[in-house]
Amino acid sequence: MPSPGKLLVVSGPSGVGKSTVVRKVLERYRGQLRLSISATTRQPRPGEQDGVDYHFLSDSDFLQRQAAGEFLECIEVFSQGHWYGTPWSEVRPFLAEGKWVLLEIDVDGAQHVLDSFPRAVTVFIQPASLSELERRLRARGTEGQEAIERRLSVAKHELALAERYQYQVVNDTVAKATEDICRILQDQDLTEK
Ligand code: 5GP
Repeated sequence: MPSPGKLLVVSGPSGVGKSTVVRKVLERYRGQLRLSISATTRQPRPGEQDGVDYHFLSDSDFLQRQAAGEFLECIEVFSQGHWYGTPWSEVRPFLAEGKWVLLEIDVDGAQHVLDSFPRAVTVFIQPASLSELERRLRARGTEGQEAIERRLSVAKHELALAERYQYQVVNDTVAKATEDICRILQDQDLTEK
């Protein structure tokens, strides 16, 4: 039996560039570290694929799965009726195989994960500054003015809770943030192959 893997929880405000950094880290640890694909009820953005970026579910399907206990954690992020959740099926089988599983989730979801997995390694990705975060959110152009304002106010809430995380990584550049996370994984005895 392999020794069970661990969870790596990565959070950070919307627009901080988490997905890009996470993708780079996953490339470096291919075969050992796996991304958990969350379920969501929000609409796919242009270019997003079902089963790759998220499992896109209807409200009723999400609710049914929630009631059936299929989520390790789930939460309504941004208070606009969009639910996000980590399916157990994205986590359990891989931990059992001895793999690490990376969860890219919000701060409240992370807290729930820690209740079930107190040994999870937690990393918070910080923006270089709040004004830089705002600039990036606006430049992304995927959200309207109201949604951007909501994401900024949630970002402030998330930044205020950042100190709960074991590690803080500043996303000045993707390369440096990637390097910082890989170093954290090395400290945790996960070696690149
Ligand atoms: P987006 O809509 O920009 O893809 O994601 C919005 C927020 O939802 C991000 O902060 C992301 O980390 C969070 N999120 C994505 N999947 C999950 C999940 O499964 N659980 C929780 N709690 N948050 C999630």
